[in-house]
Amino acid sequence: MSAPLAEIRGLSVSYLREEARSFALRDVDLDIAKGRRLAVIGESGSGKSTLALALAGLLPPQAWIEGAVRWPGLAKPPVAGRDVGMVFQDPGGSLNPVLTIGEQVAEGAVRHLGLDWRAARSHALTLLERVRIPDPQAALRAYPHQFSGGQRQRIAIAAAIAARPGLLIADEPTSALDMVVQAEIVALLDELVREAGMTLVFITHDIALASGFADDIAVFQRAQLVEKGAAQAVLAQPAHACTKRLLAAQIDFSTPRLIDGVADV
Ligand code: ADP
Ligand code: MG
Repeated sequence: MSAPLAEIRGLSVSYLREEARSFALRDVDLDIAKGRRLAVIGESGSGKSTLALALAGLLPPQAWIEGAVRWPGLAKPPVAGRDVGMVFQDPGGSLNPVLTIGEQVAEGAVRHLGLDWRAARSHALTLLERVRIPDPQAALRAYPHQFSGGQRQRIAIAAAIAARPGLLIADEPTSALDMVVQAEIVALLDELVREAGMTLVFITHDIALASGFADDIAVFQRAQLVEKGAAQAVLAQPAHACTKRLLAAQIDFSTPRLIDGVADV
């Protein structure tokens, strides 16, 4: 097996809260395997976003960091936007309302690939086609508010991969979307990472969503990594109570409920 893209070793991240240290992550060891799709699962507040920020080198200055994230293939720490692309839950958070879609998708290519704006615009056009935005030519000149939530997320994905990062981190990218659109976005991410040989870290509190496409699963609970392994193994035989609970919740959710003997689907 090739060296991991990133090695997280003994990583703890804490914040000062009411004069005590409160841990967002505690002593985490995790390899991000190259070319694989890792689902990071856990309840709200379990440290998932903190892990994403730590990987991208974007933790705020007040974060107290112990341990390390090593990148065996990089001579220097990764640059967010170039080596690590990020997509967040709310595309409003990654898209600027007063800049055109063209400017925003092209920006990564100008800044990190050294393309001039003309070349970057045509790169942006290709990316918008790739994420299947209708009429991509017109979309280049349009603004975020002119698109639906699902389309905005597609645009945010196009912008995140514009500089061809080796790692794409999607932090609950579908939580704000309805179920059909969620499935479409997951399918798109899956397709893009396969095609580009990118590594994907997909963060979600929804184990059902992750189970469809993840190669590996890491489960977080209260700042700790409580279970990790190949997705099939973890799903078939969860070892930790937290994973079992997340799976049980999924089964309750996806099994049609019987009301007066009639399936409520
Ligand atoms: P998740 O993404 O799983 O919901 P987070 O990583 O956002 O969890 O947060 C984990 C814990 O760290 C939470 O208790 C949260 O309140 C705390 N935390 C995260 N970021 C900060 C911050 N910048 N300052 C203080 N506490 C934070
Ligand atoms: Mg989060």
